[in-house]
Amino acid sequence: STTPRQTKDKSDRATQDQVMDSRTRLVLSGFTNRGVIGRLERCISSGKEANVYFASPPESSSRPAAVKVYRTSILKFRSRQNYIVGEHRFSGEYSSSRNARKMVRVWAEKELRNLKRLEQAGVPAPRVIDGNGNVLIMDFLGRDGVASPRLKDADIAEESWQGFYVQLLLLMRKMFTECRLVHADLSEYNILLHDDQLYIIDVSQSVEWDHPKSMEFLRTDIKNMTAFFQRRGGPGIKCLGLKRAWEFIVSMPLAGKEHDEAMVNNLVATDDPQSSSQEENVFMTSFIPQSLGDIRDPEAILRSEVPEALDRLVVGSDHEEVDTDSFDEISSAAAGSDVDSGTTGQKQPDIL
Ligand code: ADP
Ligand code: MG
Repeated sequence: STTPRQTKDKSDRATQDQVMDSRTRLVLSGFTNRGVIGRLERCISSGKEANVYFASPPESSSRPAAVKVYRTSILKFRSRQNYIVGEHRFSGEYSSSRNARKMVRVWAEKELRNLKRLEQAGVPAPRVIDGNGNVLIMDFLGRDGVASPRLKDADIAEESWQGFYVQLLLLMRKMFTECRLVHADLSEYNILLHDDQLYIIDVSQSVEWDHPKSMEFLRTDIKNMTAFFQRRGGPGIKCLGLKRAWEFIVSMPLAGKEHDEAMVNNLVATDDPQSSSQEENVFMTSFIPQSLGDIRDPEAILRSEVPEALDRLVVGSDHEEVDTDSFDEISSAAAGSDVDSGTTGQKQPDIL
């Protein structure tokens, strides 16, 4: 058991960590002073690009927060150019992002916007509470101060894997068709199991569906997740072939949760592994169009790629238009605001 004194030492140490330069500490104390968070109590995760901390609830609330602090060292971010080049939302910002702090700010802001999109579409993900500079504050997913496990570490009964696989496919499809995002780093490390539900996290590198590499990233996401479920799901698990899974994720209109689940289950049940594996090689090597941006009529791909089994089950495929106006508003509001204008933690009303 720790005494209050020890706890304080720990939190001091947390803020003295190498990711915490003086400006970052200033931003954080701004959030504490405004009652957005309580104190940073401990580090939940220390990664290459960011640290995640547990923050106790502020006086006004009983909800703790997860605080993601991006490192301000630029070297770690070089590899990410791949994701941000070609992103029209960030083209202006990127070319002017000469120094590390600005660059990191772009990543943090990107994660914030992407999380907001997920929230808007009802894709399970931590809710954004606030953000400023290289700091992102979101709902803490966990119980009694203990973070919910990553899918990799979750203790899942063998008979439950199939259900989570179906949940994941539905979630990926919603992310693609409604949020128009590809996660681009989806793995058992970036999914938390919280209250029996898969939650998507770590979306700073996620790209628009018309990003030049979106299809490549999506294919990799599907490949990694399928491999994981096949490895961990036990002998009973049935996963869709990669191509079938891809078709499902990019082609589906939404027709209600129960209907959706029935549809995936039906697909899984009728998927023929042999013909699937023949399709697979072609799919993994040649592949479809580079990106949806290459297609004059993006809806056409949705229609043309629908396999027969899906076709019969799809309801209203041609009628539902996804409304992206609200997303564009978020994006342009965020792009127009100067998050770096001060380090005192002012609120950014346009975004939040
Ligand atoms: P990184 O870029 O370092 O991979 P992530 O966003 O994946 O950052 O977060 C790292 C880890 O921190 C996650 O694997 C998870 O264990 C924990 N974590 C992140 N966000 C939350 C959250 N909102 N609630 C609880 N734990 C979280
Ligand atoms: Mg991660």
